[in-house]
Amino acid sequence: MTDYQRIILVHYHEIGLKGHNRASFETRLQKNLEALLAGYPVVTIHRISGRICVFLREGTGWDTAVEASELARGVPGVARVSSGFKCERDLDVMVDAAERAMREAGEFASFKVAARRNHTDFAVGSMDMNRIIGAKLCAAFPEAEVRMKGPDLMVGVEVVQNASYVYARSRPGIGGLPVGSSGTVMCLLSSGIDSPVALWRLARRGAVCVGVHFSGRPQTSDESEYLVDDIARVLERTGCVARVYVVPFGDVQREISLLAPPSLRVILYRRLMFKVTGRLAAYEHAGALVTGESLGQVASQTLENIRATDAAVDLPVFRPLIGTDKLEIIAQAEELGTFAISSQDAPDCCTLFMPRKPETHAKLADVLKAEEALPIDRWVEELAAAAEPHDYACPAYRAPKRPR
Ligand code: ATP
Ligand code: MG
Repeated sequence: MTDYQRIILVHYHEIGLKGHNRASFETRLQKNLEALLAGYPVVTIHRISGRICVFLREGTGWDTAVEASELARGVPGVARVSSGFKCERDLDVMVDAAERAMREAGEFASFKVAARRNHTDFAVGSMDMNRIIGAKLCAAFPEAEVRMKGPDLMVGVEVVQNASYVYARSRPGIGGLPVGSSGTVMCLLSSGIDSPVALWRLARRGAVCVGVHFSGRPQTSDESEYLVDDIARVLERTGCVARVYVVPFGDVQREISLLAPPSLRVILYRRLMFKVTGRLAAYEHAGALVTGESLGQVASQTLENIRATDAAVDLPVFRPLIGTDKLEIIAQAEELGTFAISSQDAPDCCTLFMPRKPETHAKLADVLKAEEALPIDRWVEELAAAAEPHDYACPAYRAPKRPR
């Protein structure tokens, strides 16, 4: 049996709609895939007429190819991933390769051939290829029927300049835009369920995401920091997180709890978190803050409190989960692989020094008045300076070089 070179064909659609930006988006996606697939036996990655083709090393097994294509599916900007073979431009060889790809793709009761001739120096046109290859595959799989609408298996055949690509296994990707095509955002990352999902939503829209985690250290253990690191390691597999700043927040929280009215504590903590994040945003040239808040989910997530916290910063604050139900968020976190980590308990800074009855409808004037008694600007500078950066694999990210 001939050993064909395995390929993974990455399809994207949204990028195709972006007019003159298209070339830079394609380059970005290609670079992201190159870096993220570095752990796999990849020979090279090329762009071919509206797709990106990943060529795997000769001798690469099916399991490895599937693993690499599963990873590619989760990379922002990828609409679909197909796996198959590169082979000669010879109809019999193409049929043979298609047969192999079909057997590997698993059970199917119906199929359809979708041939495409990208180079007119091949004598047989797309329609004829469909007919000829389809007929031969019918003979090879007599129990399967050919179905034009909604077949179980779509067999792709593409003829390019010096070769042809044949594939059968095909799975949807997460879509969106390649990370690095929409600027940088700062994501407030607790070790909870919601904020990693919020971050991922922005990454899928092409933003480079820099996380900021406020730890209760030294007033609590550093457990939440380990959970956030575990979460970031999951997100970095698909290039969705660039860096996470860990801010030891416990001492300042304690001071606030001693100096400020108890009911306003939570709002004051949160405003300070926003201000520190805003300060780090300036350093990172980030254009927005992102939180995992969802309207009404907990006492602090009311319209009034949102207004009072937003007023702490000049930057826009994005809340991609504001209208999302908890069950939907959980489902997405499970799919991402962060849910099990987020479900572990860790004392984070928010559980620390919690008042018995937090204000649910804070008035901005009262909050500003309470802040007048506190050295907010000094704290912001000190906390931003104390923030510890942890870097993750995000091919589009360049860490700032200047001093903070
Ligand atoms: P999550 O599951 O994301 O923690 P939550 O439902 O527990 O959200 P809150 O604890 O009120 O809600 O937090 C709301 C948002 O504030 C979080 O989604 C996150 O963006 C931010 N946040 C909360 N605590 C921290 C923290 N310790 N460090 C950084 N950001 C935080
Ligand atoms: Mg939380």
